[in-house]
Amino acid sequence: MDILFVSAEVTPFSKTGGLADVAGSLPAALSSQVASIRVITPLYGQIDQKQHSINSTGISGSVSLGSETLAYTVHKSVATKGQAETWFIGNERFFKRDGIYTLPNGAGFADNNQRFFFFQLVIIDLLDKQLLTPDILHCNDHHSGLLPGLVKGSARSIKTIFTIHNFLYHGHFSPDEAELLPPVLQNMLTLTQWENYSALLEGIDGADLVNTVSPGYARELINGSGIDEHSHQHLRMAEPKFHGIVNGIDTDYWNPERDSYTPFHYTALDLTGKRLNKRELLRQTGLDDDLETPLMGSISRLVENKGFPLIIKLLDDLVALGLKFIFLGSGDPQIAQQLREAGKRHPGRIAFDESYNEAVAHLIESGADMFLMPSRFEPCGLNQLYSLRYGTIPIVHLTGGLGDTVVDWSSEQGTGFLFEPYTVKALLRAVKRALTVYQAKSQWSELMRRAMAQDFSWDRSARQYIELYKKMKEMPQ
Ligand code: ADP
Repeated sequence: MDILFVSAEVTPFSKTGGLADVAGSLPAALSSQVASIRVITPLYGQIDQKQHSINSTGISGSVSLGSETLAYTVHKSVATKGQAETWFIGNERFFKRDGIYTLPNGAGFADNNQRFFFFQLVIIDLLDKQLLTPDILHCNDHHSGLLPGLVKGSARSIKTIFTIHNFLYHGHFSPDEAELLPPVLQNMLTLTQWENYSALLEGIDGADLVNTVSPGYARELINGSGIDEHSHQHLRMAEPKFHGIVNGIDTDYWNPERDSYTPFHYTALDLTGKRLNKRELLRQTGLDDDLETPLMGSISRLVENKGFPLIIKLLDDLVALGLKFIFLGSGDPQIAQQLREAGKRHPGRIAFDESYNEAVAHLIESGADMFLMPSRFEPCGLNQLYSLRYGTIPIVHLTGGLGDTVVDWSSEQGTGFLFEPYTVKALLRAVKRALTVYQAKSQWSELMRRAMAQDFSWDRSARQYIELYKKMKEMPQ
């Protein structure tokens, strides 16, 4: 099998969220089990080509977007143990700028639809010219949602799989923008109830197989919870080809025994290093240096659906219970403002780092006692998986991938604390349960060790993807 994995962001080159982590590590995990796997992504201006040894392939060409002809170049980095070979599409106008999707103030680029139309048309051009010859095109999220239709429209024998990492982002585009696309694709598009088009729904309709990043989220999508009727119709139609596979994590990069970002290392058998990292984290963030008080971490895009409305309502009460907090994240200015104000009300107890910082993220995972992730919905979630691996006990809402990966303390196999329904009261109860166990030191240590023993490496999930690929290959043309 020859696979082409399409993603708008890929760790370590470009990242805004979990999609990048998956695109960075799943293809590498698959590489030993398929004949060939390549990743393809835009060459954003912020990518340091020297640092990542990205070189020109000498391939260039042009594609038509409406009446314009736009040139592209192709660059690549070679495969390494932890990274599949990656191809980068270069274009000055669309990609050579700071930011992946947004301006520094968080506003989306006005031409995002054209940028990703272009990206997908270049991929089709490379397929046409047989510079890439995959059997399977693995598309991810709305940025590559038009590819299944484009492939079908050209009667190629390539099979397509479309993975939904987050159903919230549709990549809507207007009928005027649709006119920029090849006529064969325009004829296949379905108008939404808002009289526009959804690249996400096009991907779901057009692909031979569809999957999302956990069985729990797959069930929620098919049941239509919180989803508008029009989108739900598309999901229901896709049900026979719909699957759920939990994401794995890069267990070398997220490894408390060897983490290059953290000053101290530890294992489930010797947790001394975790306590020393906690001291370092408290020092760096200016929090009170008392090591006994439980420290709760949060690493997240600041968006409503990550549960910030609940957190913000509860913060004063939680501090009163004796907890300290470190929040790392950027995004919604209003949420940031509320976290800043909470920090001012509780100096030494609440720290807020409004940045995107890989090193701080690793230090939080290794130094905090608990990890707060009360997402309203969560397709898979990665931070709860990193947290388990670092013995940082997750407190999560029972939804999507969180429910598939964290087992509540009340069970013998418990690894964290789950709450339901999505209310302030239920979250408060979960935190109080966690605090009770935290006070009983031996129970807490046992819980940490159980959490750290969980295996979320890519092996199991990669095997499930291989099964899907095989199934696709056997499908009639
Ligand atoms: P989502 O993809 O919805 O943002 P996930 O939990 O699946 O949520 O993945 C988020 C990824 O982004 C994780 O790897 C997390 O560590 C990282 N991340 C989010 N915000 C930050 C930040 N401010 N600094 C560093 N890493 C972050």
